[in-house]
Amino acid sequence: TTLAAQQLMDAAIIRSIYKKRKAAAHKGNFGHALLLAGSYGKTGAAILSAKACLRSGVGLLTMHTPTCGIIPLQTAVPEAMVETDANEKYLSNTPADLLRYAAIGIGPGIDLHEETANALMLLLQQAHQPMVLDADALNLLSIKKELSALLHTDCILTPHPKEFERLFGKTANDFERIEKAQEKATELNCVIVVKGHHTFIACPDGTAWFNSTGNAGMATAGSGDVLTGILTGLLAQGYNTTEAAILGVYLHGLAGDFAAAELSQEAMTAGDLTRYLGKAFLQLS
Ligand code: AMP
Ligand code: MG
Repeated sequence: TTLAAQQLMDAAIIRSIYKKRKAAAHKGNFGHALLLAGSYGKTGAAILSAKACLRSGVGLLTMHTPTCGIIPLQTAVPEAMVETDANEKYLSNTPADLLRYAAIGIGPGIDLHEETANALMLLLQQAHQPMVLDADALNLLSIKKELSALLHTDCILTPHPKEFERLFGKTANDFERIEKAQEKATELNCVIVVKGHHTFIACPDGTAWFNSTGNAGMATAGSGDVLTGILTGLLAQGYNTTEAAILGVYLHGLAGDFAAAELSQEAMTAGDLTRYLGKAFLQLS
């Protein structure tokens, strides 16, 4: 197969994707996002992704989380609504009324229980809106290979190198990994975001991009959860999967660069990425 050239994401392509808000806009214009995240001891992942989703410009956000997460979530993120799962400690079902959501993200901190795999299967069967799959949602896809057949064309997968290897097998080096990402993006008809230094975005039409923002300060717990929130929020606002991946990965890295400049790579945390997301957005206009 011939793979299209890989391009570097620069400010020009980002500005061509970014849509400025209309002065008379109301929250209905910016979509209602649903995030399925968290489990007992990992409600922090749900909080990190929720805050990032809200700071990406989404109109409304509903969190679906085990019942143990409702108090911490509603305390830490009052802007988000919470719809609790039937289970206390981990996800076991999908929320009612899936049609009301413009975009869905699943994975941060969800863990690998059998019931959670079942909830993911139901979600993939029932929901046809744009979707982000991250973290343990990807690991569940690796464990239950038959779930991959349920992926629809509006999905973004965001594996880090280990998750990528579990999903698609070992590769000898970075070149092979990005080639495989491009093959799989075409085969599965999904956007695949291979996270790391110079995150690589492989699109179903064969185009591919390297990110130019970000730094090693982002190699810290929860950075990926923040990206999932941003991508889900951008999808809910009507950006397509390719646009959301390019814009979201770029802004996430740029927020990381602002955080590192003010706090140091050592002291910055994942929550700081969300705090500096506003500064990153300001660079776009
Ligand atoms: P995760 O491993 O799921 O928490 O995701 C980590 C996030 O931080 C991804 O978006 C990576 O691209 C980013 N990241 C981690 N290490 C680096 C690095 N050395 N340079 C740039 N970005 C990084
Ligand atoms: Mg992660």
